[in-house]
Amino acid sequence: MRFKKEIIDASKYLLQLQFNIGSEGNISYRQKNEIYITPSGIKTSNLKPKDISKVDLNGKVLNKNKPSSEILLHSWIYRNHKDIRAVVHSHSKWASILSCMRISIPSFHYMVAEFGGNDIKCSKYATFGSDKLSKYVNKVLHKRKGCLIANHGQVTIGDNLEEAVDLSIALEKLSEQFYYLLITKQTKLLSNGEMRKIVKLFEDYKAKH
Ligand SMILES: [Zn+2]
Repeated sequence: MRFKKEIIDASKYLLQLQFNIGSEGNISYRQKNEIYITPSGIKTSNLKPKDISKVDLNGKVLNKNKPSSEILLHSWIYRNHKDIRAVVHSHSKWASILSCMRISIPSFHYMVAEFGGNDIKCSKYATFGSDKLSKYVNKVLHKRKGCLIANHGQVTIGDNLEEAVDLSIALEKLSEQFYYLLITKQTKLLSNGEMRKIVKLFEDYKAKH
């Protein structure tokens, strides 16, 4: 299956970018009512298509491979975002740093609008893999394509794997930029009206391409 290889290629790409190390992070892809997700406990560098776990939308395992510990998070997201086909979770450096401050990223740059609104929120804290964490993350992912996960990292979603991976790179870049702006304390934010305009421009652009 083509998308099993795409999941592995995307996981190895994030490893190469040092967004994750070892077996950190997880990626999934939804095909109708089935979720294909990276397995639990296998180093990304050793991943093969046969290792990808298959689960249903409630997180029930459908093959022999134990899914990632964040399967609840992924399945909640697919149930809440019917149009979404891919979820990418990583512990990238700058997003993780901001997540430990538990602050949302405001409208300091117009590219924040690529995530669907005038900010990129940070979830409340809960233990990794828990139902509570899935609930908190899904709350801040409402009408957004990405968020920070408190004291943990980031998650992004997309219509396909390429979009979700690109957004994870964009979120990492915005996190780094905003971290430095926090030090300068001189940031001028864009207005909500301007951000709404840009969200619309992004939607129109996407509809045409
Ligand atoms: Zn994680």
